[in-house]
Amino acid sequence: MSKLLKKVLKPKELYGEVEADFGEIEKHLFDDLVEVVVHRHHECNIPGCYKEALYDAKTIHGPWGYLCQEHFDAIGIGLGMGKGQRLIVKEI
Ligand SMILES: [Zn+2]
Repeated sequence: MSKLLKKVLKPKELYGEVEADFGEIEKHLFDDLVEVVVHRHHECNIPGCYKEALYDAKTIHGPWGYLCQEHFDAIGIGLGMGKGQRLIVKEI
């Protein structure tokens, strides 16, 4: 939207447009879920690997697990709904 158009819109009209934009963002996240917020750090689930997990992801073997970067690269199938999500750690 141009700066000029923003100036002539009433607040209510602006708000309506903001709402519509949020809807689009949520739909986008749902269609392509690539990140998930977790509240603590996780260790990689691969036996013998104690690195920090950066992904919660499906593996080429089928099961899901917490994976470090190295194991995600080796046995992850990618990011997105039904594939895997990057972990965003936000400790409370
Ligand atoms: Zn690992």
